[in-house]
Amino acid sequence: MRDGFGRTIDYLRVSVTDKCNLRCIYCMPPEGVEWMPHSEVLTLEETQGICAAAATLGVNKIKVTGGEPLVRRGLTTFIRSVKRTPGIESVTLTTNAVLLDDFLDELVDAGIDTVNISLDTLDADVFRYITGSDGFEKVLRSIDMARAARLAVKINCVPIRGINEGDIVPLAELARHEKTAVRFIELMPLGLGANLTPIPHAETFERLERALGILRAFDGRLGNGPASYYSVEGFAGKIGFISAVSHSFCGACNRLRLTGTGFLKPCLASDVGIDLKAIVRGGGDDEAIAEAIRVAVTLKPMRHDFYQGNGNNRHKKKNMFRIGG
Ligand code: SAM
Ligand code: SF4
Repeated sequence: MRDGFGRTIDYLRVSVTDKCNLRCIYCMPPEGVEWMPHSEVLTLEETQGICAAAATLGVNKIKVTGGEPLVRRGLTTFIRSVKRTPGIESVTLTTNAVLLDDFLDELVDAGIDTVNISLDTLDADVFRYITGSDGFEKVLRSIDMARAARLAVKINCVPIRGINEGDIVPLAELARHEKTAVRFIELMPLGLGANLTPIPHAETFERLERALGILRAFDGRLGNGPASYYSVEGFAGKIGFISAVSHSFCGACNRLRLTGTGFLKPCLASDVGIDLKAIVRGGGDDEAIAEAIRVAVTLKPMRHDFYQGNGNNRHKKKNMFRIGG
């Protein structure tokens, strides 16, 4: 599918739950949130049906996200069935990895292609501060196990002023001896993230070059999305940057997002979208779902409006744990 700006749309991010076992300071309040009622959340069968309809339109990559996807019961069975859907070439998972070690064998058996692990620090105390949890050792163990299983692993870090600045270089070092990609994602002014100060891409880049040597732009293809990648002398893995704010990543946007309640969002920052759950539960067939997806693609804006006009107040009300990142 092509959108109104000529971008090819071939990637669907699917949030399978709004629940999470962590409370990251930029994402979920410590007291938790009111979860969506069970009946509001798509069943995994309904979600798989939407993935299949999207595949008939040229979507060939599915990212499973959340909340924390690994807290959703039946996740590995779902991943297996999505992976077997005609037209789907890759199924990847974004996870905080606290439960990944428990599910790794099942996920590999189900055919998962890549795991993206969110990790903002290599210090157990900072981890506890950022996430409100003691799961740090489990995350490290999960990373080791995923690498040992020869899974493609990407580590995603959100640098935040005054919180994990000292972790940028140590996290990048995870790419030195293994093919693991380490990516730095600029904090977006969404939800609780709007109350914190991002570290701009240029500063993260400079810190890395000072510590590791020159970062050379890598032209090859790596991954599904808007990250730009760099090679570092002596490093097996690449360093990536996803700059939502400094360098709007919208020009290369190839994605749609499906929330856990079945709302199809053509843009992370926009409230516009299509209620696919109403179509699925109203008895809509595959063609009706496909038609709604086609319409959603026509609604894709050219770019996000972070830091423009009164956009920020609106974005503060958004929740990444509902949108899926
Ligand atoms: N729980 C899973 C995890 O943490 O990987 C998947 C869902 S989480 C919402 C997906 C990604 O969104 C994580 O990498 C997280 O760091 C990122 N994220 C959450 N809030 C953000 C914000 N305000 N700006 C940038 N990234 C954010
Ligand atoms: Fe949970 Fe992921 Fe949000 Fe952290 S970023 S609270 S792990 S959904």
